Formats: sequence, structure tokens, C-alpha cells
Amino acid sequence: MAVRPTNLITGILCLLLTLIVISGCRRAKETKTLPQVIKTKTGTEMALIPGGWFDMGSKEGASDESPVHRVWVSPFWMDRYEVTQEQFKKFQLPDPSHFKNPKHPCEQINWTDAAQYCNERSRAEGFEPCYDEQSWQCNFNAKGYRLPTEAEWEYACQAGTTTKYSFGNDVRKLKGYAWFADNSSGKTHPVGEKKPNSWGLYDVYGNAAEWCNDFYSESYYKESPEKDPKGPSKGQERVLRGGAWNSRADSCRSSYRASDPSINDTCLASDAIGFRCVRNASNNASTEQNMEKENQAPGRYITGFVYDDIYLEHKTTEGHPETAQRLVAIVERLKAKGLYSQLYQLTPSPVLLEWLLTVHTPEYIQRAQRSCEQGAGYLDSMDTPISSRSYEAAMEAAGGVLSAIDAVMAGRVKNAFCAVRPPGHHALKDKAMGFCIFNNVAVGTRYIQKRYDLSKILIVDWDVHHGNGIQEMFYDDPTVLYFSVHQYPFYPGTGSEAEKGSGKGLNYNINVPLPAGSGDGDYLRVFEEKLKPAALAFSPDFVLICAGFDAHKDDLLGGMRVTAKGFAELTQVVKEIAEKYCEGQLVSVLEGGYHLEGLATSVEAHIRVLMR
Ligand SMILES: [Zn+2]
Repeated sequence: MAVRPTNLITGILCLLLTLIVISGCRRAKETKTLPQVIKTKTGTEMALIPGGWFDMGSKEGASDESPVHRVWVSPFWMDRYEVTQEQFKKFQLPDPSHFKNPKHPCEQINWTDAAQYCNERSRAEGFEPCYDEQSWQCNFNAKGYRLPTEAEWEYACQAGTTTKYSFGNDVRKLKGYAWFADNSSGKTHPVGEKKPNSWGLYDVYGNAAEWCNDFYSESYYKESPEKDPKGPSKGQERVLRGGAWNSRADSCRSSYRASDPSINDTCLASDAIGFRCVRNASNNASTEQNMEKENQAPGRYITGFVYDDIYLEHKTTEGHPETAQRLVAIVERLKAKGLYSQLYQLTPSPVLLEWLLTVHTPEYIQRAQRSCEQGAGYLDSMDTPISSRSYEAAMEAAGGVLSAIDAVMAGRVKNAFCAVRPPGHHALKDKAMGFCIFNNVAVGTRYIQKRYDLSKILIVDWDVHHGNGIQEMFYDDPTVLYFSVHQYPFYPGTGSEAEKGSGKGLNYNINVPLPAGSGDGDYLRVFEEKLKPAALAFSPDFVLICAGFDAHKDDLLGGMRVTAKGFAELTQVVKEIAEKYCEGQLVSVLEGGYHLEGLATSVEAHIRVLMR
């Protein structure tokens, strides 16, 4: 197998050098520029890798990483994720993977089959294939997909840095970016779960090692050309980069080189070998411009939209106001108004238990699952009815919020709206309540803090009801500013002005109770006079909205008089706060809203402001 040290001595030397370098490490500068991303005709996200010079190789690495030499790489598009099994099978190619799962990387793939995939994908998208299917020579002038050269791979992996990893020299941080021997539990994982590099590429370290187009030669760097180097013309093994689920941290470094002989069909590749594709990005070719026009470039999208049909499978009792029709009304309205196609569609995955456990107890999560599976009818109390697939929907509702956060953090969109259900802000750590199963926004809060190292989260809750679940979860926590404006006295009974937080969290819980009958002007005044100064004092790193629309004048449950225009104005205030303090990073999550027409028009007005 290829993902291996050349020999034991090199390994030990590398380890020693790693330790030496760590002691003098410096943090790689994390640029905040948006990677330019497109979605190809067959549905793959690719990031534009800008052309440029870089120092290829490493003085401190293995002997085959020397000499370090200056290389120019022309711009190209690169898959943001390793090719998944799902994508591989799109072109009627038999999936060779050992760890079967549609979202995991395609592995156990030999080099030729990876090249074959490139050709199939090229043909499906109307591009001239790069590979001759007899000789497997690559035509680098063709417009189609191919495997990256070793230089392209290393350049994209480094993303403008000169440290061992794109995030710096601190090997302890690798767990945040990679599935490798220390954290993979001996298997691959779904692509895109770890942090991307600053050029928007996921899993460049770990998960599956990646085939490059180049043949491997230990001495290649001695004679490597300067401009767009392409590797020796012949060889026994092809280059692998990035390390895999079974690699040591050192074998995941940006400049680490490996190789494998399983080039053709007669050899069986290891289950630690996968790949991703690249395509030339020429500046003047008309096909290129056309492609960018045809494929909606998410770089142009401002707002992401999380929705999935699974949310309709959470069925409540007949006559219950929290129905699947709420989401149907929202989506239909956005489509009818031509807004839907202007939103960047985000597909949720079920939330990982690890994140759910940051706010809920394991016993409660198990009880929720069991109750749904056993057809209990409701969870904890009669006001939270459940059906057989409610648990699944609730997992994807929380997961949807995390997908939105990821999209914002990777720069794919500036902000996002999550059309999810069941709602979440009443859910307690160990109890369902008020139509809510998992506390979607609370899970999102902890996720932003832990995964992205952002410390201060502002939650603005304008649902007509007080979000007692969120208040309780963060009551003594000064890193979360919870700001709720709601009808009072009203369900769930909490939310008086006197509830200000406790301990270190004192004054980080702000309740603004309003009497029934309050309208646009009253809400706006609260936002101007209370929310703005609170945000100024707090200076958030990320803003979340508990966007309930049950304060709408026609709502079935609420007694307020807010209009769709009013919700637009509130959105504008929160958006300006996000722009002022945290580069506009904002995710809005649906909570209540029970008058279908009132809900749909309000969401439309809300989204129109987000998209501006
Ligand atoms: Zn509500």
C-alpha cells in the first residue's frame, strides 16, 4: 500500500522534524476571501484555483520532497470534495469501494478507472475528454476533466500558505481538518465533514489519498520544469497525495509524496485510495465563459436555502397548526415569485450525534428516537405530536442549520434561510416542548463555536413565543447573547424582563416582553432602542435568527399585528448588525408561523432582504 513512509528512518526523522518545527510554529494566515465556486452540469461543486507561483516541496520532509523549487501553476478548477461513491455511480461505473456509503469517497479505485471517470464526466457535460482510452495519455489541452498534476495538487492544498499544513504547523489541529489514523476509527467518512482549506477544498488531508496524473519519480524535483510541470513521461507508479484514513499525521502534510503501482485493471487498489478531478480554467476561451454562465455560479448567490422533503414526513395530528403545509406554502410562494431559483439550494444531512449532544442529553435523544419508532403518537407532552419519521426529520432539521452554517463559513453564500421543521426554540435539553423536538438554533450555536472557533454568538428571536429552551441552555453563558422579543404574558410563561441570565451569563439574556396587539412600529422600536445597543456592546462573531412568523397579524396562535413589511424591516436591522460586526455572517432558522398565507408572504419579505 502506498500511503506509507518510504522507510522507517525517514519516518522517525520526519517525526523529529515535526516536533522541532511545532515548537516554532506560526499560524497560517486565514484569508477570508470567498472562493469562487461553480456547480457543474452533473452537479459537482468546483472551486477556482487562481494561477500563481509557489515553492513546491519541503526542506524538512522526506528526501523525495527536495529540492524545494519555484513552480508556476496556471489557473484551474478543482473538485471541492473527493469524488463520492454516489457521483462515481452516476456514469454507470461499478463502484469499487470497500466502505460502502453514497456520501463517502469512492475508494479502492485504480488510477485507470479514475481516469475513465474523468472521461465519462467530460462527455456527460459536453467537454472533450482528456484521456486516450488505449494509451491513457492525458491531453492537457482538452477542455475536459482529468486528474491533477502533482504540482496542481500541492499548490491547491497549500492554498497560499508555506506551512506544513494549510492551517499552520500545529499538528494537533489536523483533527479539525482531516480523517486520519488518530480519529478515523479505521474507516472513511462522508466527504465535507471536516473544515475546508481557505480555497474552499475539503478533505485534502486524510479520508482517501488522492491520485494525481503524474508518474512518481523519487528524483523528479531535481529536473522538474518551472511552468506547469507534469511529471516524468513514464513510470511504474502514479503519485498519491494528501494521506488517508489510515495515515499518520506526517503523511498528510501538503508536500508529502506517496505512490502506488495499482495503475491498471489487473491490480487492486487499496481502500485508502480515491481521487478528485480538475479542469483547465482558461481566461479567454468562450466555452469557459459559457460554462460559467450556464452553471449558476454560487459565487453570485447571496442567500442559501435549506429545505428537504424529509421535513414533510414529520406528521402532526389532524388540525394541529404546525403542519407540513407550512413548508409547502413557503416553497410554492418563493417559486411563484421567481425567487427560488435565485437561492443557493442547500441539502441537509442528519445532524451528527456529536453535535446534538452539545445541547441535549443522550437519554432524551434515545427517547425521541424510540418514541418515533414505536409510534408513541407524541413526545413528552400532547403538544408535541410525532410520527414514525419525526426523529429523522428532526435530525435533518438540526443538520440543515449546520449545512447553512458551513455554507456561510466556506463563503459559498453570505447568509442563509433554513425552511426546516419541526421547529426548535422551546426544546429543552432533556424534554420536547411546544412542537419542538431538537433545539435547532442551540445546536447551531454550539457548532459555530466548536467547529469554527468563533466565540460570540448573537441569537435574535422574534417568534411570538418566548424561546424558553434557548434561554435555559445558555442562561449562565456569556458567549451567547440571547435576545427575545415576544408576546407576554403568553405561552410558555417564561420571558419576563427580570430573566437576565445568571453567573457569568448575567445580562447576556435579554427579554423584551410586549403586550398583545403590538405591531410593526413597536417591534422596530425595540430593535432600534434595545437590540442595536446590545449588539454594539457584545460585538458578535456570528448572528442566528429564530425566525418565527407567528407575530403576523393573521396568525392562528399569536395575538400581534406584525405585517410582512414589518418582518422585512426587522430583517434589515439584524442584517445590518451582522454586516457591521461579522462580515454579514447570518443564518436564519424557521420557528413558528401558522397562517399559511401570512407565513409565506413574510418569509418572502424576509428572504428578499437577505438577498439584497
Ligand atoms: Zn411561536
